[in-house]
Amino acid sequence: MAQLVLLPGRDRSLARRHPWIFSTAVAKLEGRARPGDTVEVLAANGRPLAKAAWSPESKIRARVWTFDPDEAVDDAFFKRRIRVAVERRRRLPDLRGQEGMRLIHGESDGLPGLIADCYGDTVVLQLTATGAEKWRTAIIGAVQRATGCVRVYERSDSQVRRLEGLAPVTGWVFGEAPEEGLSIVENGVRMRVDVVSGHKTGFYLDQRDNRLLTRSLAADRATLNCFCYSGGFSLQALAGGAASVLSIDSSAAALAAAAENMALNPELDASRAEWREADVFSELRVLRSAGRAFDLIILDPPKFAPSAAHAERAARAYRDINALGFRLLARGGLLMSYSCSGGISSDHFQQIVADAANDAGRNARILRRLAAPSDHPVALHFPEGEYLKGLLCEVD
Ligand code: SAH
Repeated sequence: MAQLVLLPGRDRSLARRHPWIFSTAVAKLEGRARPGDTVEVLAANGRPLAKAAWSPESKIRARVWTFDPDEAVDDAFFKRRIRVAVERRRRLPDLRGQEGMRLIHGESDGLPGLIADCYGDTVVLQLTATGAEKWRTAIIGAVQRATGCVRVYERSDSQVRRLEGLAPVTGWVFGEAPEEGLSIVENGVRMRVDVVSGHKTGFYLDQRDNRLLTRSLAADRATLNCFCYSGGFSLQALAGGAASVLSIDSSAAALAAAAENMALNPELDASRAEWREADVFSELRVLRSAGRAFDLIILDPPKFAPSAAHAERAARAYRDINALGFRLLARGGLLMSYSCSGGISSDHFQQIVADAANDAGRNARILRRLAAPSDHPVALHFPEGEYLKGLLCEVD
């Protein structure tokens, strides 16, 4: 096994169990390793620290599989880690009865570069790093064994694969698309899941709890759902008895999916729902000019800042839509605002929302801080895992 030797003093993040080894921390690689091969990680003085997956093309030069230098990284290792991740979720009461959930959340489940989501008896896998790619067969076998799933789709088309020198891979690994299409019931609402061309692995599982919160807040409120995608928040708002729900998205495909979802839930009052294909930035200005006001506004935009390098531009965009949102709120109205940008911390996001309230001349308070649910855990030693943050604010 090749040995990756760190520069003096660069073993500190590993001592804190952070799983990434950046190229700037590496002194040398002794021996030969191909992308994804397991390497032994040594401190500058030769002390063994960990075993990691070698990724020669990425700035993250290696990702730690185990901090126990004596643990073997083999088929049994993946069987163990994957079983533990799946069983952990079975014990969490808030996930009981959910058909859709994240089963493996990468680094935070001790499996860097591996995402697995289940939708009923279908699992969608996403491999985003060379190490996970190398162990693909073992991973698929272990996922099938741990879940008993009947089909697996691979959705390894995330942009980050490029940084690893990996080409996109998509398709059914085994099983095939069910004839009636794929859907899940999420807290009483049936939602289609498009594993082939939907966002992420087919659905935004990370907003499950926040959609449920929306439902609990929506009664009799004129609701505005911006960046509605396939209508998750909108349908939960309808289920919660919203007076009306106006949903905006710039994607015709997303709105077509939302229409299908509306039809899948005939008990919801579709006459209270209006769907608009538009750019949120300009449409909110149109609504403002028309003198419209809402009691509940949801802002769940796409990732404006995938990394810290985009933070400044992203901050302006978040501030802009949040100020527009605040301006459109009726007295006592609620703003539910999110950022899924890894490059924006929750403190920074709160500052942006505060600036936006100020821009709009509104006095507001935080009622609740929002995050992804427990199937998207954040390992304490891996703060980068906390990408989704939100605030529920109430205005005077
Ligand atoms: N809230 C959704 C997920 C939102 S994903 C859910 O719970 O499922 C972000 C959505 O924003 C995508 O559907 C994308 O089409 C849309 N979008 C991106 N930029 C936009 C813009 N400028 N105006 C309107 N919609 C936009």
